[in-house]
Amino acid sequence: MLYDIVIIGSGLAGATSAHILAENGFKVLVVEKERNIGGQCFDYKDSNNITIHKYGPHIFHTKEKRVWDFVTRFSEFNLFQHSVLSYAEGNFIEFPINRITINKIFGLELSCNEIEGFLKEEVKKSKFNTPHLSFRDAIVSQVGEKLYSLFFENYTKKQWNTDPENLSPELAFRIPIRTNNDSRYFTDMYQGIPKDGYTKMMSNMLDHPNIQILLGCDYFSKKDEIESKLTIYTGELDRFFDYKFGELEYRSVRIELKTYDTKQFQPAPVVNYPNDYDWTRTTEFKQLTGEVSDKTTICYEYPLAQGHAFYTVPTKENNEKRLKYMQEVAQLEASGKFLFIGRLAEYRYYNMDNVIAATLDKINNWLNNQK
Ligand code: UDP
Repeated sequence: MLYDIVIIGSGLAGATSAHILAENGFKVLVVEKERNIGGQCFDYKDSNNITIHKYGPHIFHTKEKRVWDFVTRFSEFNLFQHSVLSYAEGNFIEFPINRITINKIFGLELSCNEIEGFLKEEVKKSKFNTPHLSFRDAIVSQVGEKLYSLFFENYTKKQWNTDPENLSPELAFRIPIRTNNDSRYFTDMYQGIPKDGYTKMMSNMLDHPNIQILLGCDYFSKKDEIESKLTIYTGELDRFFDYKFGELEYRSVRIELKTYDTKQFQPAPVVNYPNDYDWTRTTEFKQLTGEVSDKTTICYEYPLAQGHAFYTVPTKENNEKRLKYMQEVAQLEASGKFLFIGRLAEYRYYNMDNVIAATLDKINNWLNNQK
């Protein structure tokens, strides 16, 4: 079989690439190993008509207008500002850490201006490495040991099954520390959930006469039969190279869904459980989507070592291995015949908007080189 372009994977990287290339007149084949499109963004309605994110909560947020302009071509969005509470010391507390969190935990009534000085004192009492060697250092140096142990230490151990000292400091960039009253999880200008779900949004991206989709097909078993001018790979990086530099670690999650006979189950769309229970967090999907029902479905996340790859694991060993693979990627990409895009193929802890931005950049660059 000869195609202009073959794309392995129909997640955000695959669907975005497919759409842009199809629009530019290329005949595209998308090969997807699952029986549905959507990758980790796949969602569906349960028997109570509540939208379930199969691979855990997905909240779209971006600072980039070009990314927002792109996704809103394929779906309307419920505009929604995400909020999270953390269950600590028996109470639901505002998270990420901000003025309200600090006043509640320490029983104080500090103003925004006083919070900075308070945190400085907390940090002064604490031990950490400078420059930062780990996730622990990066957090303790901002909030001190007490807040670190209450909100971060055990959540991180549960999530990654390793001591936070083994995780790279960059992981801390995901979680802001604030001195004001802003309790939103994200402060990006554009934020929301696709009105009819991510699967529908992505099926709209893939709905083009130049795009053919092969579901339930493992690319590696068909590799020799498919020829193309360009191959776009969005699967696991080490798998593509037959693990020649060793296996990269991925982290999975067991999702448990429970439906309750109540309109609202928890006080926020997502509740994090750093210190109690085996799950890391619970999500009440209705609060993300704005759906109305007498029942509600809750998602409990239990981190796992094996299974569907949800996360790349930010340790030094994995980062070093990644670099070796990425050198091979750079060579293949330089030939103009391959692109590696997305969380799994670039082995990066990308958010959804990062995946789209990276895809827009790589595909537009490839198109420019064809002129
Ligand atoms: N984290 C934490 N406590 C929390 C939330 C997050 O320690 O209450 C740490 C944890 O290591 C987690 C990382 O910050 O894996 C990133 O959190 P984020 O909410 O971005 O995770 P995601 O939504 O990607 O699962």
